[in-house]
Amino acid sequence: MSVPRILLIYTGGTIGMVRNDTTGALKALDFSHLKNHIPEIENLGVRLDFTSFDEPIDSSYMQPSHWVDLAQIVGRSYHIYDGFVILHGSDTMAYTASALSFMLENLHKPVIITGAQLPIGILRSDARENLITSIEIAAAKTDQGLPKVPEVCVYFEFNLYRGNRVYKNSTQDFDAFKSPNYPSLAEVGVDVKFKSRYIQAYKDTALEVHTSLSTDIAILHIYPGIPDSQLRALLAIPSLKAIIIKTYGAGNTHDTESFQVALAAAQKKGVAIINVSQCKSGFVEMGKYESSNHLQAVQTISAGDMTFEATLAKAMYLLGKGFTGFTLKEFMEKDLRGELTTLQ
Ligand code: ASP
Repeated sequence: MSVPRILLIYTGGTIGMVRNDTTGALKALDFSHLKNHIPEIENLGVRLDFTSFDEPIDSSYMQPSHWVDLAQIVGRSYHIYDGFVILHGSDTMAYTASALSFMLENLHKPVIITGAQLPIGILRSDARENLITSIEIAAAKTDQGLPKVPEVCVYFEFNLYRGNRVYKNSTQDFDAFKSPNYPSLAEVGVDVKFKSRYIQAYKDTALEVHTSLSTDIAILHIYPGIPDSQLRALLAIPSLKAIIIKTYGAGNTHDTESFQVALAAAQKKGVAIINVSQCKSGFVEMGKYESSNHLQAVQTISAGDMTFEATLAKAMYLLGKGFTGFTLKEFMEKDLRGELTTLQ
């Protein structure tokens, strides 16, 4: 078998940061700094090429335009490489992973996103393991020479996850991500044991890169005492196309008259209403409790067991493609990239 070619894309994040001596705050540094700390990555038995954002960023500065850059880098060099590793801050990693999973349709090569909780220059840093194992996973092939993980993943602290299933769970633990509604894709110890039954099947189809994303979306986090004027204020946003309501439990919320009037107004205006649960585990089940009947009555879209990050990215992607109304509902509630468990 030929030596796998991997493209390492550096966007920034803690992994390559150093502390500013005056302010004490961490700031992203350029790629050579990072590379100097692990010269061994050149000797991993893969052919590695490197590219970087012109200005590496803390991932809190991540914007959909950066996702477009990343998707285009993958798209442009797709035929050259066997896999891609994206170095990224952990703060918005779950959003980027979700967005890329939708933007890269028919992906059949690994795109592994990783980062670190401690900068690479710190002795106890998790950066080295995360980076080295991510490269190994991106390069891994079956006996037939096919990629073992042909999908967008997040790798962090011995866990490989489907990218659109994770959320950042901890600012302190090295094991920073969780995937409560979908199992990990590999167990990483002395060996990397891929759990092929959970990994997307390889399809020999042409990659399609989608770069149109809509940000005309508002978020309403429900809490006891929330004034209904918040919903009305969001609905007054002129270009609004969708509102994601973060509901309680299985998709429940209050049903005061003014709330219902505002929801009906949203529906009349053609603003899609999407119901995602504040619970990290489990799924939205409208109609289970009376407290969600009023949402069903306005054709609310169920996020099922999707993470909030995947729900938002999917809405950006589908609205960007121009879907509205029933078609939007149909696609939001359909599993497109393994982001959603559809109940039989
Ligand atoms: N603020 C950092 C970032 O997301 C945190 C990290 O990298 O873990 O870029």
